[in-house]
Amino acid sequence: MRLRFILAFRAAAFLAAAILTAGSGAATAKAQEAPAQQADAGAVPVIAGLPAGARAAAAGIDGEKIRAHVRFLSLDLLEGRGPGTRGGELAAEYIATQFALAGVEPAGENGTYFQRVPLYAVHTVEDKTKFAFVPADGAALDLEYGDEIVAKDQTGQATAEIDAPIVFVGYGIDAPEYHWNDYAGADGKIIDVTGKVVLVIVNEPPSNDEKFFKGKALTYYGRWTYKYEEAARRGAAGVLIIHRDDLASYGWDVVRNSQAVEKSYLEGDPNATLRAAAWIQHDVAQKLFTMAGLGDLDKAIDRAGVPGAFHAVELPVRLKAHIESRVRRYVSANVVGRVAGAEPGGNAVLYTAHYDHLGIDPEMKGDNIFNGAADNGTGCGILIEMARAFAQSPVKPPHAVYFASVTAEEQGLLGSQYLGMHPPVPAAQMGLDLNFDMLLPVGIPRSVNLGGAERIDFWPTVKTVAKAFDLELLPDPSPMAGHYYRSDHFSLARVGIPAFSVDQGDLFAGHDLAWGEAQVADYEEHHYHQPSDEYKADWDFRGNAKLARFGFVLGWLASEQKKPIEWQPGDEFEAARKAGTRD
Ligand SMILES: [Zn+2]
Repeated sequence: MRLRFILAFRAAAFLAAAILTAGSGAATAKAQEAPAQQADAGAVPVIAGLPAGARAAAAGIDGEKIRAHVRFLSLDLLEGRGPGTRGGELAAEYIATQFALAGVEPAGENGTYFQRVPLYAVHTVEDKTKFAFVPADGAALDLEYGDEIVAKDQTGQATAEIDAPIVFVGYGIDAPEYHWNDYAGADGKIIDVTGKVVLVIVNEPPSNDEKFFKGKALTYYGRWTYKYEEAARRGAAGVLIIHRDDLASYGWDVVRNSQAVEKSYLEGDPNATLRAAAWIQHDVAQKLFTMAGLGDLDKAIDRAGVPGAFHAVELPVRLKAHIESRVRRYVSANVVGRVAGAEPGGNAVLYTAHYDHLGIDPEMKGDNIFNGAADNGTGCGILIEMARAFAQSPVKPPHAVYFASVTAEEQGLLGSQYLGMHPPVPAAQMGLDLNFDMLLPVGIPRSVNLGGAERIDFWPTVKTVAKAFDLELLPDPSPMAGHYYRSDHFSLARVGIPAFSVDQGDLFAGHDLAWGEAQVADYEEHHYHQPSDEYKADWDFRGNAKLARFGFVLGWLASEQKKPIEWQPGDEFEAARKAGTRD
């Protein structure tokens, strides 16, 4: 009761301050200062459509509660929260318990908070795995595993054999909206690649035209994950992605190292059926081109990006492979809770934040526990505190609000992918997903990056709310890197749900931009994905609280929309949204 009173008082005081300063010419300078200070201090601005009770609930969001969650989730006791480990289960149980204590209803399976996510991890046995190019005439070429080729058998079998023709499909893209299909042969007919191996270039056709593969920005068609998925949809047995430093934007070492560890897949994922999901090094791809009589590889890559200049072609060379894998099957869980709305149906709202991290590395000397305090203890703390605020709000949100702390993000967004395939309500009834991942608690942010929010028709409201919270909207710092496809919100977007992450910029209250950039750079260089991503007692959680209030208000207003939130016409996720049913 006492807490409610203080909140109401705080909100009333803010309202009074706003009324006093409004319309007074002399107070203009002060009025410009006031909203920022008020928002920093925990007040929630007056925004059209946001009832007073919701404002009070949002104002009650407490940074010190977020701190407590982050501290607990990143204790050594939780062993780095690896999916399928004891520490990961403890984290899930903790989050479910917090939901229960706050009055958030279970929205998992069988009346629980848990949605079981069946997974398997694949580790390629390097010295027993063999690849060779076998031409129609002449000698075969054995490939050096590691230096020339790396691969994963996505099917989760202990051994796999491939003996299949190779088809070069350029960028391997089928994009009807750009009138582009790399699987079409010289006669215009689509080449059937069932049971065959597809040879493909990483990235997408170069463009300066916004209307053609979004100009310089990377679309999902340019991501290597898309190449695998598209070939799998067409029944291919394998994919060989040609690596070139400039096209991948990282060196061969990165590819090789990332494949040296085990990779997890979702049981029953229709997009992961390749017996060989492989990368080949540029020079070995040139040898294959020479063997096939196709000439210069780089010239072919150039041609593949020119409209009308490329046609898929089957090579007179087969891929022969024997792949051995160590496979570990396990189950992890998404933790899903719900706060009922005043009315059924409508735009349900979803909040997501992954709780998994990298676990323990037994081969590492010294501290080998990957605590993941910032990544993503912070997002979990924000999620739990937003859930509490919704559950304890004096007024119900217009429609149901869901909170999902997902697993196996670090394994490739797998928990959120499962959630997208099995959402608590049909995807078409989900109005918005807001995701929170890794928000360094070093102060009160003055800017946010909401990459992807401009792609949905809720964008004008997003801009209004950001302004009210005195948060400058930053453009994506590197659209060519395709950040939108690398965080959990993407898993929801691909089933059509309008989705984006709430990320903070580098400018913090009381500091210049250089200070904030230095904080972020220090974290990225010395702590990101390292055992030293640990809770620090001097962390300042007022910023996490501010972003939680901001997210709360965005979600509330999304829930209040009278019609479904949609993607902008022509967006790459529009078709997925339309394919969903609304009943
Ligand atoms: Zn991470």
